[in-house]
Amino acid sequence: MDGPVTASAVVLALPDALAEEDCPGISPHPAAPRPERTALRWIGQGLAPGRVVAYTCSCRMTAYELVACGGVYQIRRRTLPRRGVPPVSWTVQRWRRGEALEWWRRLLAGQAQ
Ligand SMILES: [Zn+2]
Repeated sequence: MDGPVTASAVVLALPDALAEEDCPGISPHPAAPRPERTALRWIGQGLAPGRVVAYTCSCRMTAYELVACGGVYQIRRRTLPRRGVPPVSWTVQRWRRGEALEWWRRLLAGQAQ
């Protein structure tokens, strides 16, 4: 059984095409970021536990979750541990449902990152 550190090291060493062999193929993958994308700002603090209402595929080095807490929504980003990037971060922005779903759509379309 591989521990999380070992598993991360293996994924880091693989090019994307090989890593995708482990893709469960259920959740969406964000499109490649477009040149004109909006840069979201990310911080280390987020909503208290909350409820994950949507998420992207875990096969990528970076996975995103749309989290709801008391009618407020925020996007959480999980990345493999690497220098200068926290493993979990959150958008500075918090939105109501409609706005949040629009930003989630943009994120999946590569229009926000
Ligand atoms: Zn996948």
